[in-house]
Amino acid sequence: MDMLAYVKAGREPGLVLEHRPIPDQLLPGEALIEILATSICGTDVHLYKWDAWSQKRVKPPFIAGHEFSGRVIKVAPDVTRVKVGDIVSAETHIVCGTCEFCQRGEYHVCENTKIIGVDTDGCFAQYAKMPVSNLIVDHSGLDPKYLSIQEPLGNAVHTMLHFDLKDRSVAIVGAGPIGLMGVAIARAVGAKQVLAIEINEYRRNLAAKLGADLVINPLKEDVIQAVLQATNGRGIDVVCEFSGNKTAIEQAFKYVKAGGKMSMLGISPQTIEIDISNDVVFKGIHLYGVVGREMFRTWEQVADLLKRKKLDLSAFITHFYRFDQMEEAMATMMSGNSGKVVLVVKEDAK
Ligand SMILES: [Zn+2]
Ligand SMILES: [Zn+2]
Repeated sequence: MDMLAYVKAGREPGLVLEHRPIPDQLLPGEALIEILATSICGTDVHLYKWDAWSQKRVKPPFIAGHEFSGRVIKVAPDVTRVKVGDIVSAETHIVCGTCEFCQRGEYHVCENTKIIGVDTDGCFAQYAKMPVSNLIVDHSGLDPKYLSIQEPLGNAVHTMLHFDLKDRSVAIVGAGPIGLMGVAIARAVGAKQVLAIEINEYRRNLAAKLGADLVINPLKEDVIQAVLQATNGRGIDVVCEFSGNKTAIEQAFKYVKAGGKMSMLGISPQTIEIDISNDVVFKGIHLYGVVGREMFRTWEQVADLLKRKKLDLSAFITHFYRFDQMEEAMATMMSGNSGKVVLVVKEDAK
């Protein structure tokens, strides 16, 4: 039996819609999943554009995509953790379980991490097989077309909740799809003030809608001045960095408050210049680098926020497309005028 899948077919831009065999030959510990919805990540855009990072990082051909919700339709005989019919998503980092970091329980920094849809066949397909140890069973009962964005939401949750935000002032640097989730998370956990810094107008408007008290346009305003003004000259308690932008990061070190915290998710192709003495050491700040999601604490935090209805997944998704509309979906993502973009692979027939 065949299925349709978007394949990174060669060392060139684009994704090719191909017929592929359904991967129903399961090894121990694997499950076959019928994909219901899949969302496009920044990583997928890199792959699609075939930029410098992709050229170095991946080896075509493989099926792209890693963010999904789906229904388990077959499990290997040894599998007990999930059952046929379960609605699942996946932690997309497949870890080795045996390296120094895995043995310490720090799976998110496993040195042998394989990423679904980058190092292995992914979920831009009608079916995918996955290691059951990576599957997260849904207990929210939400429509699966919203559930594919739990994995990037995990990135946002990991970035936002590493430091305590309650009654703190928080700056979200870069309000792309993940930063926008950050705005809502900061509000959900009781931050006293939420600032968002973003160049794109569409995203600035979304940030305000999701609860940012002040939205700053770095192309028009002096960001450091604007932040200091909004915080009585004191600076920000917690900076959450999603942009990866050199200037934005360098500015953040100037407006983070003494004793403040900075969580960094955005990756920068450039070298960042920081005054370590004055802006890190003498300020006594804490810096945290965010890699993926803590396995599996972050997923528990995501599930808890959803269960307590602290977050509305539908607020983060601005565009739904059909599975055959990958080109349109990619164009929307690349325009910057979007939050999360979701492809509905199959309407859930509950
Ligand atoms: Zn992703
Ligand atoms: Zn490992």
